[in-house]
This record gives sequence, structure tokens and C-alpha cells, in this order.
Amino acid sequence: MEEALKELLDALRDDSTRVDDVWLSKLFRRHNRATHDANRRVAKRRLLPFYLSIKANDPERWRSWNVDPELEAKLLRTLRMKPRRTASGVATVTVITKPWPCSSDCLYCPNDIRMPKSYLHDEPACQRAERNYFDPYLQVRSRITALQDMGHVTDKIELIVLGGTWSDYSEAYQIWFVHELFRALNEFEGPARAGDGPEARELRYRRSGLTYRTDELVKRTESLQQEVTAGARTYNDAIRTVLRSQGWRDAELWQTATLDELETQHTLNENAEHRVVGLTIETRPDLIDEQSARMMRRLGCTKIQMGIQSLDEEILRANHRNVSVSQIARAFSTLRLFGYKIQAHMMCNLLGSMPAADRKDYLRLVGDERFLPDEVKLYPCCLVESSRLGREYAAGRWQPYSEKELVSLLADDVLATPSYTRISRMIRDISSTDIVAGNKKTNLRQMVEQSLASRRDEVREIRMREVATSDVTSNDLRLDCVPYATAVSDERFLQWVTDEDRIAGFLRLSLPHEGTVAMIREVHVYGRVAGIGSSEQGGAQHVGLGRQLIERACDLAREAGFEAIRVISSVGTRRYYASLGFVSDDLYQRRVL
Ligand code: SF4
Repeated sequence: MEEALKELLDALRDDSTRVDDVWLSKLFRRHNRATHDANRRVAKRRLLPFYLSIKANDPERWRSWNVDPELEAKLLRTLRMKPRRTASGVATVTVITKPWPCSSDCLYCPNDIRMPKSYLHDEPACQRAERNYFDPYLQVRSRITALQDMGHVTDKIELIVLGGTWSDYSEAYQIWFVHELFRALNEFEGPARAGDGPEARELRYRRSGLTYRTDELVKRTESLQQEVTAGARTYNDAIRTVLRSQGWRDAELWQTATLDELETQHTLNENAEHRVVGLTIETRPDLIDEQSARMMRRLGCTKIQMGIQSLDEEILRANHRNVSVSQIARAFSTLRLFGYKIQAHMMCNLLGSMPAADRKDYLRLVGDERFLPDEVKLYPCCLVESSRLGREYAAGRWQPYSEKELVSLLADDVLATPSYTRISRMIRDISSTDIVAGNKKTNLRQMVEQSLASRRDEVREIRMREVATSDVTSNDLRLDCVPYATAVSDERFLQWVTDEDRIAGFLRLSLPHEGTVAMIREVHVYGRVAGIGSSEQGGAQHVGLGRQLIERACDLAREAGFEAIRVISSVGTRRYYASLGFVSDDLYQRRVL
């Protein structure tokens, strides 16, 4: 390993332009010729962890390699895996809440009793959660370590909290969960709270009888799971049995924190090495009101993922959603006025629907002023073994769409999506072995994009226009403003675009119909993640694009007669906004216009 690494360092020192994937594969082939043990083979994914571990644990050996900061930056760029993961400018850390009953029981929803409702134990983030007792502190530590091992910069973090319905958990658990997320980031580089570091935390779970071992988990849940899958018991009923075990009862006693304690962690995070630049929480529209929106804001939340699935009352009823269209509309308005970014989950192919009806439904979502999400996840409905949809399938009342129907429907959805909306996903990370019927293609999105190859210039949605990892200079860009109206506000979507309509950054400005205070709901500039304050020229993030967007938003709000402007800043971006003249204002930061 060391010989290969030294050869790579020499090549980078000499002429880094000749080091590409072909050069690397030749290097690996040469060094692996005599290695028969698969675990000792040189590979891209192994070189960086090896380098980092020598740097941390054997400084003398590391010094003998003569790596200066410039050479190290080249090495990180060369060995960085999966560049797309941080291409949007932040490193994403997804965490999962503990198994818990859900106040709804949607027909298509998986019933895996090792997981919170709707998740499956072999989805990647779920595996990590289970290995870490669903503990937020341990999940964050494990994810940041993995990202660093892959060569990603992790100073700007977007936290995504998934699992069932957030609003169904007790307030004490919610506050503790978020407190621990922040504490894990604040303590990542330094000492942990006395007696409550990672080892102590794991020991606590083990001593109380909880386990992360798959064989043991299967043994403990097997018969309950069979009853749930057969329809003899509900998920909620089974989960209550699981939660009555000693381990979970013990955990419930100490998994609490106060808002004051959380705010202390927030304050620490403002200057931490791993700052939270976004916090997303997933919940249901019927559980959103002013009180819950306020509470989520106190937690530091900036984006809400909301399961909409359909805007057709009949389809909602047929699929036991227990949510009405008017509740969905009210949730959109409340969240918008609170300044949140709104991500809607939509499902086509629900029981009772047809492709033509799904097309109409999507047009309603992106065209009716009561809705208009900022981001969409399009999840085609599929059948997993444990869900109640299985009985409808067996009775012939539900059938998955054919691949052709699905690709054509999703392609039409992409074309219907306006320039201010991002389609974040088109499939869920469900393993194909869990899918009894429905789409199993993990590259469905690529298939949809290929089907649109000849119509690329008609695509307006954000994701397909992102500059991603390619570098742009400010000379290539112009600032464009897309106005649109919602039921409660006039919106201005400010975007930096190239002549080819590629997008390098954007800002969402809300001008509410009532009141005199405008709201910046999101500022996002694309480019590879670079260290906060670093001079690495990593892409669009380093040419002041964000600042210019904010100044333009202030001008627009002032011209529209607003007296002040607020920003729904994340804890880790408070200092940045303070430097632009924003002062603390209850749940936001504010600037007088
Ligand atoms: S609300 Fe969400 S988690 Fe609850 S049953 Fe419906 S889909 Fe599943």
C-alpha cells in the first residue's frame, strides 16, 4: 500500500495532470500483480484511509513522505470517492430515529418492525442506524468518519432526520435527538462529554440488553414480524411490544434533553469544525400547525420533508392516508410563512390510480398556488412484502406500471417541473430483494434522463441544470429572477445561470401577502465543498455568488415596500449572516431594509 501511495505522490508532485482514472488503474494493477489476498489489494477506496491513518498515528513515517498542503490537496482531489455526494456544496448526513408507532397506517407502507415505520432494515442509512442502536450521536460519528475516509471535506453538514413521522415522537425525544446530533458534531474533533463518549454510550446500550447484532435482532423479532406480515398484528401493536423490552425502557428514561441544553449545543456549533448548514425533518402534513412549525424551528430545522403522495381525495382515501387535500394546502402555507424549504414526496401508481391521473395530479402539485414545493421526491409505489398492499395485489386490485409507462410518466413530470423546483430523487433506496412487485431498476433516473436526451433544452427543473463538479467563473453567469405567486406570498427565485441555462446558485425569497417582513428561505451555491475559510478553488462557491444573491434579495424586498428581511439561517451559517448585517431575531436573523 505504501509503495503505491508513494508512487502516486511522486506522480502528483511531478505532473498531476497525467494522474487520471486510467493512470490509477495501471498503478493498482501493477502493485496487485503479486497479491492474492483480496483484503490486501491496493484500491482507490483503501489508499486515502491508509494515508489519513498514517498521518494521524505515525507522524514520523508521514513526514518522511514530504507532503505539503498543496500536494495533500491534490491527493484528496484524486482519491475523493463519489464526488456527486458533496457536489451540491455540503456533506449530507442522514440519521434514522428509533422504531416507533406511526399515527397513520398507509396501505403501501412497509412494516419492518426492526425499523421506524416505512423504512427497511437493509436500506443503507437504516443499516448504519441499526448498527448504532438508532443513537443520533453514534450515527453522526460513524457517518462523518466514513465521509472523511472517502476524502470528503465535512465542515459543512446537512443533517437529514428520517424515520416514520417525526411529530409522533415525544417532545423530550425530539429535543434529545437533535441535541445529540449537534453534540456529536461539536465533539467530533475533541474530548467527549465526561462519561458519555462513544464507547460509554455503546456500553450503556449493551448493558441494558439492546443489540446491534443482526443474528440476534432476527431471532428477537422473527415471530412478531411474521405475524405483522401475515396481517395478524399491526405494526404499531408489534412495535409497542418491542419498546416494552428492558433496553428501550431504560433508554427512554435517559434519552431526554431540555431546550436550554440544545441551545447551548447550537451556540457551540456556530464555531465548530463541523457546522450544520441545514437540518431537515420528515413529517406528515396533517401534523403541521403553527405550534409544531415553531417547535421545529427551535430545534434548528430549515427544511421539511412532507409525505404528500397524492392530491386526489379518493386516492388518498383508498390508500388509507388519513390526510385531506385542504390539510396539505394548509401545511404548505404554514411552512412557507415560517420560511422553511418544502420538499414534497409524491407517489405515482398508488392503489386506484392510472398514469393519466398521476400526470394530472403532478401538474396540480407544481401548478396550483396552494402547493408549489421547492423540492420533490418522486417515489413510484412498489410492493414490499410486509405492506398491506400485498393483499390488494393478490386480489388483482393493484398492479405495478410497466417500465415503459413509468419512464414516460416520470419524463413528463420532469418536463412539467418549473425552474424553481428540484427533483431530488426518483426512487427510494429499497433493495431489489425486498421488492415483490414494482420498479427494481436503481438507474431509473438515468433511464428517464436518457429518454429526455433530445428534449434537454425543455427541462427547467433544477437538478438536471446544476453545474455540479464542473468549475464556472462569475464571468460565465448572469442573475435571473423567476417570479411566481403562491396562496400566501409572492415568491422570487433568483438564480445564477450560464448562457446554456446551467444553474450555479440560487436564492428563494418570499414576499408574504401580509406583514412588512420579507423572508429568505434558502441560499444555495453549487461547487465542490471546500473548507470554511479555505482558499481552495473548488467551484462556484468561492466567487461571492451567495452574497450577491442576498444583496439582490434585499433590494427586491425594499422595492416591494418591505421594512425588513429575515433569513431562516441554520445554526452553522449564523456567523455568515451576522457578517452581512443580520441580527438575531427570535427564531431567525433579520436585517432592516
Ligand atoms: S404516514 Fe408515513 S410512516 Fe406513517 S404509515 Fe403513512 S407512509 Fe408510513
